[in-house]
Amino acid sequence: MTTKVSAGTMKVAQIPKAGADFEIVEREIPQPDFGQVRIKVQACGVCHSDMFTKEGAWPGIQYPRVPGHEIAGIIDELGAGVSVWEKGQRVGVGWHGGQDGTCLSCRRGDFRNCRNLKIPGISYDGGYQQYLVAPVEALAAMPKSLSDVEAAPLLCAGITTYNALRHSGAFPGDLVAVLGVGGLGHLGIQFANKFGYKVAAIGRGSENAMLAKKLGATLYIDSKATNATEALQELGGAQVILATAPSSKAMSELIDGLAPNGKLIVIGATSDPIEVTPIQLISGSRTIQGWAAGTPTDSEDTLRFAELTGVRPMIETYPLEKAAEAYARMMSGHAEFRVVLTM
Ligand SMILES: [Zn+2]
Ligand SMILES: [Zn+2]
Repeated sequence: MTTKVSAGTMKVAQIPKAGADFEIVEREIPQPDFGQVRIKVQACGVCHSDMFTKEGAWPGIQYPRVPGHEIAGIIDELGAGVSVWEKGQRVGVGWHGGQDGTCLSCRRGDFRNCRNLKIPGISYDGGYQQYLVAPVEALAAMPKSLSDVEAAPLLCAGITTYNALRHSGAFPGDLVAVLGVGGLGHLGIQFANKFGYKVAAIGRGSENAMLAKKLGATLYIDSKATNATEALQELGGAQVILATAPSSKAMSELIDGLAPNGKLIVIGATSDPIEVTPIQLISGSRTIQGWAAGTPTDSEDTLRFAELTGVRPMIETYPLEKAAEAYARMMSGHAEFRVVLTM
């Protein structure tokens, strides 16, 4: 089903107000301003964090708002002052949708932690539409061999797992556990394998055991059937546990599975507290660290690494008109594993 669009207009899947359902509307195609480009969107991943826009769970969102921060497309118009990027160039836009360049973090070169970070789909209209206007500091160049639907999820789920792991301090051969075999975890397992780690995938139930091994896990731990912490300790403890499953309980239970100097890296977002005693951290000098996506240059590294090593997301695609269905599928937790909208 394709809704007809008149000349100069485009189709948009927007949230009219916090907590409301998606609506498909026609809008004028936007013009890029100074320092911006217009992107003809080819594909946009549906991420759990789109919930912030859908439900109004992020402060200051102005409605109507178009969600979407896993955007793959083609530059089709340049705003004034844009020199490096070209019309017709394939680009991606992820969670990092622009920095102010003036806050203390930015002045230190730490753009990822910009105090006034802009996020597509939250600060401005994101990728659930046919055309998107974005500032140049949000753009990542796209390698030729990656298709749009494959690249889109790499711009949030991919970069987050890749970037967290490459900054984790684990060395090749180290035991790295990936908690959760889902949207983030199925990518985390692949990256961890390609980084040369001994990968322990941890899931609830046995149904993902075969898949986890196919994705590159050395072993699979069914945390329903066995004590995952003991299983990790029998292997000497994990240097890193990449916690992708949004379960604070599961994370808390695994802390004792860390090796001395081991690190729990939290990327599965929930608002429940993680429970840990000081003794658990003091003995073995363990740490817990959170990690948020990365900058567009980190995205480029992620895409290049995926191109080089064959890491790819497993996806289900839906047309833009079915954004509501696609979003519901993602929220159900049953998607295998990333949902992607095509325009
Ligand atoms: Zn995301
Ligand atoms: Zn800043």
